[in-house]
Amino acid sequence: MSEEKNNVKRIAVMGSTGSIGTQTLDVIRANPDVFSADVLCAGNNADVLIQQALEFTPNAVVIANEKHYKKVKDELFSKGIKVYAGEDSLKQIVEMETVDCVLAAIVGYAGLSSTLNAIEHKKPIALANKETLVVAGEIITEAARKNSVNLYPVDSEHSAIFQCLAGEWENPIEKIYLTASGGPFRGKSREFMQTVKKEQALKHPNWSMGAKITIDSATMMNKGLEIIEAKWLFHLNREQIEVIVHPQSIIHSIVQFRDASMKAQMGLPDMKLPIQYALSYPQRIRSDFPRFDFINYPSLTFEKPDTSAFPSLTLAYHCLEKGGNLPCAMNAANEIAVNAFLNDKISFTQIVEVAEKIVSTIPFLPKPSLNDLIETDTASRVKTKELTG
Ligand code: NDP
Ligand code: MG
Repeated sequence: MSEEKNNVKRIAVMGSTGSIGTQTLDVIRANPDVFSADVLCAGNNADVLIQQALEFTPNAVVIANEKHYKKVKDELFSKGIKVYAGEDSLKQIVEMETVDCVLAAIVGYAGLSSTLNAIEHKKPIALANKETLVVAGEIITEAARKNSVNLYPVDSEHSAIFQCLAGEWENPIEKIYLTASGGPFRGKSREFMQTVKKEQALKHPNWSMGAKITIDSATMMNKGLEIIEAKWLFHLNREQIEVIVHPQSIIHSIVQFRDASMKAQMGLPDMKLPIQYALSYPQRIRSDFPRFDFINYPSLTFEKPDTSAFPSLTLAYHCLEKGGNLPCAMNAANEIAVNAFLNDKISFTQIVEVAEKIVSTIPFLPKPSLNDLIETDTASRVKTKELTG
């Protein structure tokens, strides 16, 4: 890892124009003595990327869609900011010597190659992009082990587990409870789900997030992805990972130890806290985030998830248990199906039905290489597109 200049940690913000990316920039803006934005990367949103670069004057920016290269270059080159475009640049930019830490917040499978490359170049990762671990958890965690790279979770539940484990590194985890808000359709029947429109599914009760993860929260596939993410981050098996619905989203997750003690991490739902902790670990930085007030929450409640209304959880547990290329196939099918739902091609319940179909028909590979996973991803996308028109 390169030396941090004047103790300022220089961050490559991958997916800077998204929900997590912009909140990461809020954290950097609030702590200019601690963090700087060294690299900004976006997919399509050239205008926001330009505006962010003018404010943060990073060393370099990457716009994945090459169509926007000229526009971005014309605005930023004269300011001394290096401008690159395309997928290869996205993957390679994390290697820059000036980068101290990579905040991985590109959505979906598209985030895999830059994160893996950053690990191979020994850059610590603050990981928001859960799909990376769902697709290639074994390869990513093995690469991190080999290169002595730490993966700091940004996902609020996994950050909670990580915070509960501080000081407990010698103590085995008996079990974790990942909390789930239940999304906008908690308590609704399977019949109701068949009538759901995208405007309803895009309204999350507690969190404001990108469109894909908001739909994943409505189907509870988000929690399905998160159980697989937890398996890899904390080396757990199926029996050690339980999902509990907690509609208030105050307790962000819980660890149970072998003496029956349970530790929970709590606070108001605000992604800036886990983002900041992933970047500042092991320190905690003073923040002005709103504080939780018990009087406003006379009861915190818990429920068992309804797997008949939310079959995504059963599918994800199946993929977690069987492993191999099945989580990768499930993820690819889900990404395409969510997109199809957002484009009014399929109904809400078809999202998970399509993912089930892909998982049950894809040839099973118990120990896939990275190339096998790339092929599984491509094949699953092609088949899902056929099924979703
Ligand atoms: P958004 O959709 O808001 O943002 C996604 C970001 O990725 C944007 O900057 C987008 O660029 C960029 N992007 C998309 N496709 C590509 C591509 N092919 N190449 C390069 N960049 C690309 O998503 P979120 O911020 O909500 O989520 C990001 C990740 O964090 C997801 O994996 C999600 O599961 C995870 N996460 C999010 C949480 C949240 O609260 N939002 C909570 C926990 C985890 P552009 O917009 O310019 O096209
Ligand atoms: Mg989460």
